[in-house]
Amino acid sequence: TKSNQELESIFRYARINILKCNKEDAIQHFISENFHFIENIEKEKPFGDDNKGFYLDFDVPNLFVFASGTDLHQDTFVINGSIILQDKASCFPALALNPSVSDDVIDACAAPGNKTFQIYELMKQFPNNSGKLFAFDLDFQRTELLRKRLNVFGAKNVIAQNEDFLKVNPNDPLFSSVKKILVDPSCSGTGIIANQNIFESANEERIKSLASFQKKILLHALSFKNVERVVYSTCSITIEENEGVVDSVLKEDFVQNSFHLENIFPKWKRRGLNGFVSCIRCSFEDKTNGFFVASFVRNLSQKKSNK
Ligand code: SAM
Repeated sequence: TKSNQELESIFRYARINILKCNKEDAIQHFISENFHFIENIEKEKPFGDDNKGFYLDFDVPNLFVFASGTDLHQDTFVINGSIILQDKASCFPALALNPSVSDDVIDACAAPGNKTFQIYELMKQFPNNSGKLFAFDLDFQRTELLRKRLNVFGAKNVIAQNEDFLKVNPNDPLFSSVKKILVDPSCSGTGIIANQNIFESANEERIKSLASFQKKILLHALSFKNVERVVYSTCSITIEENEGVVDSVLKEDFVQNSFHLENIFPKWKRRGLNGFVSCIRCSFEDKTNGFFVASFVRNLSQKKSNK
C-alpha cells in the first residue's frame, strides 16, 4: 500500500483548450485567481513559497502544472470549457496517435471524452482538416456525458455513438479511410491515485478477465483494413493489462506479420516492463497517475505487398 505522503504527491494538471483560449489569456486568468506564473522553476519548491505558483509542463504542450491538492473544479475557465482538467499521463495517448491532416480517426472507448477532444484539437491544428472523428462508447449515460462535454469544449462534427466497438464492422466502407484508432478500454484503474485505498489487493480474477477483454478489443482495432496506427492505453499498473496484453496481441499471426511497436516519446525515461521499451509507463514517481501507452504501427513493406 502507498503512504499518505505518496498519495498526496501527484501534481494537478490543467490543459488549455486551444480552440477556446490562448496561453496568455489562460495565464492571465489564473493570475487573476491569485495564482502566479513561474518561468524559472526551483527544483526544491516548484510552486513557490506559497504553493500557488503554476508553470507549463515540459513534456505535454499547453499543459499547466499546479501543486498537489489544488482544486480547480469550480474555476470559471474549467466550467466554460476553456481549461480541461486532465492528468498529464492521460495526455500521452492522443499525442502518440498524432492524427494528420486528412486522417479519419476512431476513438474506440471514448467517454467521458478527454482524449476524444484532445484528438479533435490535434486534427483542428490543420486548417483544412477533412478527417472524420468517430467516438464510440458502450455505456449510454457515459456517451451522453461525452456528447455534452464535447459540446462544452466546442467540438463540432464528432460522430459520437453509443455502440459496442466490438460490434463495429471493420470492413464497413464508412471506415475505409480510418488510419488511426485509439483504444483506451475499461481497466482495473489501479494507476489512479484516488483508487489506491480501494485496490489494496488487486483481484486476480478481475484482472484476468479485463486483460482478455482488452486483448479482444485491441485485436478488433488492429483488424481495420487501412488502419496505420493503433494506440493502446490504460490507467492500470498491472503487467497483465499492459505489457501482457501487448505481448499476447503481438503473438497473433496477422499482427505479427503486419505491425510493429513504435518507439514512442523517446525522451520519456519510464519505459514498459518485461523488455517492452518502445512503450511508456507513468507512475506516481513522475507526479502523475499510473499509466501505460503502446503504439502499433503497420509495416510499410507489408502494406505494399498486401495491395
Ligand atoms: N478515453 C476516455 C477518456 O479519455 O475520457 C476514458 C475511457 S474509460 C477508461 C473506458 C470506457 O470504455 C468506458 O467509458 C466504457 O464504457 C467503455 N467501454 C467498455 N467496453 C466497451 C466496448 N466494448 N465498446 C466501446 N466502449 C466500451
